[in-house]
Amino acid sequence: MKRILLKKTRDFSLLHRHPWILSGAIASTEGDAPEPGETVALVNADNQTLALGAWSGESQIRVRVWTFNPDEIPDAAFFSRRVSAALNARRHLDVLAPDAAARLINAESDGLPGVTVDHYAGFLVAQFTTAGAHRFKPLITAALREHIPCRGIYERSDVATMTYEGLAPQCGVLHGETPPYAIEIREDNRRYLVDVIRGHKTGFYLDQRANRQLLSRFTRDADVLNAFSYTGGFGIAAALGGARHVTHVDLSADALRLAQRNIALNNLSADAHTLTEGNVFEVLRACRDSRKTFDVIILDPPKFADSRAALMKASRGYKDIALLALKLLRPGGILATFSCSGLVDAGLFRKITAGAALDANRDVRVLHHLTAAPDHLTSLAFPEGDYLKGLLCAVQ
Ligand code: SAH
Repeated sequence: MKRILLKKTRDFSLLHRHPWILSGAIASTEGDAPEPGETVALVNADNQTLALGAWSGESQIRVRVWTFNPDEIPDAAFFSRRVSAALNARRHLDVLAPDAAARLINAESDGLPGVTVDHYAGFLVAQFTTAGAHRFKPLITAALREHIPCRGIYERSDVATMTYEGLAPQCGVLHGETPPYAIEIREDNRRYLVDVIRGHKTGFYLDQRANRQLLSRFTRDADVLNAFSYTGGFGIAAALGGARHVTHVDLSADALRLAQRNIALNNLSADAHTLTEGNVFEVLRACRDSRKTFDVIILDPPKFADSRAALMKASRGYKDIALLALKLLRPGGILATFSCSGLVDAGLFRKITAGAALDANRDVRVLHHLTAAPDHLTSLAFPEGDYLKGLLCAVQ
C-alpha cells in the first residue's frame, strides 16, 4: 500500500478523527501517484500510520478515511461490518419497515465517505460520489445485499460534486428490479409517492421527516404557504394537521404533479390545495403587493451557498425570503425557515433570521431549533455532516 506522508502538525485532523486530508496537508507520496480511489496509508511526520483512506487525485479533499485502524484493510468483510454497524445504529428507528423511507448510510458519519444509501419501501437507492466509493461499489453493493433484504438497488450517482472527483454521473439498476415510476412510502401518518429515478437527490427529502411531523402540530385551521414545496412534503403534513388551505409553490412542474397525486393519496380535498408553478421570490412579492396573508409559512429552499465565495449572496437570499415571509404572516403566525447550506451554520442562520425580523419590524420567538431527522445521524468528529438547520418561530 502506498504511503502518503503528511506535513508536520497536519495530522491534527486525523488525531481528532476527522476523515478528510486536504491536498495542502500532504508533504509527499511514495512512488507513482495512486490510482483514483486506491487505498493509501496516511503517515504523520513521526512516521506513524494513523489511518487508511481512499485517494482522490483530482479533488482538494485528497484522501477520505475509511478507517483509523491501520490493520483494518478495506475489503469485503470491512464493508460488510460498516453496513452492519450503520443498520445497528438505526435499530430503534424502524428504518426497514416494508413501507418505510429512511437513510440507511450517511456517508462520512457512518464511516463510508461518498456512500449514501436510502431505503424506499423495499428499494434501496445508492449514491457513490467519490473515487473511493466508486472503486469499491461492487463490494459495497454486495454488503448491502447481504444485510438488507430488498427488491432492488438503484444507483443515483448524479450529484454535482462528482465533477471534483473526475467522476461522470452514473444511474441505473445495480441489483434486482427496476423501481416503479412512483414508490409509495409512509412517514408517520403521511403517505407520499416518490420517483427515485427522476426525483431530486435519491427521490425525497428524507432529512425533513421529523420537521414535517412537528409542523403538523401548528397548522390547525391555518392558511398555509408551503414555499419550495417539491412534491408537497410539508404542505401535506400541514393539511393532515388540520390546515384550512395550503398553497404550494415550486419551480418544478414535475414535482407539483406528484404533489397533486400525494394530496389525493392522503385523502385530502383538492379544493384545499393550490399548486403554483413559480419562483418563490416572485410569488412572495406578488402576495405582498396583493396584501395576501397567511397563518403559517414554510421556507425550505435549495442550497443557496455552494462555496465560501457565495456565502454573502446566499445570506442575502435567506434574509430576503425570511423578510418577505414575515411581512405576509398574520399576528400569531408561524414561520418554519430552513437552510441546507453546510457553510451557513446554525449561529449564522439565527443571525440572518434575526436581521429579517428586525427589518420586518416583527417580534419573532423560536419555538424549536430544527435539524435533520435521526436516521441522518452525524458523527461528532464531522461537523460538515450537520448541514440542515431550521427555526420554527412564533411571530407577533
Ligand atoms: N420542502 C420539500 C423539499 C424542498 S427542496 C420537502 O419537504 O420535500 C427545494 C425545492 O425548491 C425543490 O423542489 C426545487 O425545485 C425548488 N426551487 C428551487 N428554487 C426555487 C425558486 N426560486 N422558486 C421556487 N422553487 C424553487
